[in-house]
Amino acid sequence: MSEKIYVIGGGLAGTEAAWQIAKRGEKVILYEKRPEKTTPAHKTGYLAELVCSNSFKSKEITHPHGLLKEELKKLGSIVMEAAFKFSLPGGKALTVDREKFSKYLTEKIESNPDIELRREEIKEIPQDGIVIIATGPLTGGEFAEQIKKLTGSDFFYFYDALSPIVDAETLNMKKLFFKDRHGWDDMGYLNAVMSEDEYKKFWEALVNAEIHEPREFEKEIKFFEGCLPIEEMAKRGFDTLRFGPLRPDGIIDPEKGKKPFACVQLRREDTEGRAYSLVGFQTQLKIKEQERVFRLIPGLENVKFLRYGAVHRNSYILGPKFLNPDLSFKGNPKIFFAGQISGTEGYTEAVAGGLVAGINAYMLKKWGRTIIFPKETAIGALINYVTSSDPKRFSPMNINLSLFPDVPRIRNRKRKMKFISERSLEVLEDFIQNVLKL
Ligand SMILES: Cc1cc2nc3c(=O)[nH]c(=O)nc-3n(C[C@H](O)[C@H](O)[C@H](O)COP(=O)(O)OP(=O)(O)OC[C@H]3O[C@@H](n4cnc5c(N)ncnc54)[C@H](O)[C@@H]3O)c2cc1C
Repeated sequence: MSEKIYVIGGGLAGTEAAWQIAKRGEKVILYEKRPEKTTPAHKTGYLAELVCSNSFKSKEITHPHGLLKEELKKLGSIVMEAAFKFSLPGGKALTVDREKFSKYLTEKIESNPDIELRREEIKEIPQDGIVIIATGPLTGGEFAEQIKKLTGSDFFYFYDALSPIVDAETLNMKKLFFKDRHGWDDMGYLNAVMSEDEYKKFWEALVNAEIHEPREFEKEIKFFEGCLPIEEMAKRGFDTLRFGPLRPDGIIDPEKGKKPFACVQLRREDTEGRAYSLVGFQTQLKIKEQERVFRLIPGLENVKFLRYGAVHRNSYILGPKFLNPDLSFKGNPKIFFAGQISGTEGYTEAVAGGLVAGINAYMLKKWGRTIIFPKETAIGALINYVTSSDPKRFSPMNINLSLFPDVPRIRNRKRKMKFISERSLEVLEDFIQNVLKL
């Protein structure tokens, strides 16, 4: 009987992985436990659900995030196809209508004759085929125990945080106004400006507000620097927020005609503009405290919360210790890890891992060998970090400039990025023609 290929987890990585296998003509079984069993962050039964922000970050190819997207597009990523198809207008960031995005991907997978979607929770790693583990940052229960059996104690937990989403109809538009601080998409962001007095009251309430008592297993919280809870940031000093998410740069208070003391930004969450998220407001505050403190923001006095901020576990294995450069597990090359559980951080990065693992699972089955993406490309640089960096200093990482190898000393950041992106796209083209097409 022909060897099976399994993908466990229909998130961003698993959806991409299954698609990459099927589009090359191999059959694949995709397991997804939702909607029957869910996770602390997912809300729907759709595949590839976005659990927090609706932004995939920059789409400019002279930015590491944009370059990663461009490469994924060139390699026929189905998730990128959906993200661009349902992107919201304007801006340099790729923000999407989350519902239409995930619905489209679910329909694509369900209607693909080479993909068998099984809605069930997997408790043990299948032994009769090639397996891609893409169970994401909230992997738990018996399946987490299975992974621990593979990796021993080097299976980590740390924490990520969600920003609240509010109902647009309950915002006081007399106090808020549209403006993008960079001038890219003035309908994408609402601004709530604060005087020094208003900021002081807000800051004092925030640093003194009650947070959730961590449970026993949550005591050793290791926050990802780019996603610090707002109250943690505020506790670093009175001005920290004013130089972070509440910076007033590029904003003019329309009433006073000058730069405000601080500014809270709200980002549009859907095409119709019915929901807005508070930018940078990931939080561990108790629900009652979120209502009390965040309603001190001018314009949000009577706001209704569609989703409260929260903090969740993030699980990942120590990639550099356990993974080969093709994302296969060192102890068993028929098992691949992809997405957040492999140690990448971020939506697009999860898609990249899924694409690489999917191609390699197919290659292993069809040709008995796998391929390694060139490190000069954004995909290759990311996978290289996850599989080959120093395990002692490892922590999950978004794609960024520092991951690209052999970059000449160019002081100007724009010129440096231009060099990286031109080199990457050239190397990728060669890789597509001479390695992938063979
Ligand atoms: C709370 C939170 C907020 C985040 N916010 C952002 C953000 O705003 N921006 C960003 O770029 N990144 C964010 N991330 C990080 C990361 O990019 C996302 O978690 C992303 O969804 C990871 O993709 P994934 O495919 O690895 O996992 P997921 O998208 O979580 O997919 C894993 C899938 O596996 C399924 N599954 C799990 N176990 C089993 C099992 N045993 N059997 C069958 N199915 C199973 C789950 O139901 C899920 O559908 C966040 C992470 C967390 C935890």
